[in-house]
Amino acid sequence: MDSSDVVPAAIIPSANKGSKQLRACLLCSVIQHPLDFRKYGCPNCEELMQMKNSGDRVTACTTTYFDGVIAVVNPEASWVAKWQRTSKYVRGMYAIRVRGRIPEDVEHELENRGIKYRPRDQTDQD
Ligand SMILES: [Zn+2]
Repeated sequence: MDSSDVVPAAIIPSANKGSKQLRACLLCSVIQHPLDFRKYGCPNCEELMQMKNSGDRVTACTTTYFDGVIAVVNPEASWVAKWQRTSKYVRGMYAIRVRGRIPEDVEHELENRGIKYRPRDQTDQD
């Protein structure tokens, strides 16, 4: 698979939309405007979250309760991204800490795929 000429990226929220309304994905912690989540889904885990065109799913799968914002411009090289376990993700804005859990059906889906869900509220720090 060679898609190097198209660099995937999250929709960078513009400041004038009002940062209070921004939401962070509960699974990958990417930060976007809720309208962008609704329009495009999550750039990293839409396959699991299925937020596109569903306001309910956006509400269930993202949260406004996050703090700390890091910009990941080059996910492969960024040590911050590695620390945040986001090195496989698209570039964009990510929350350092996200409160809340993904919906149960998504957690089950992750289990089915052999992926262990790690909440991003830093209760699992190693
Ligand atoms: Zn996500």
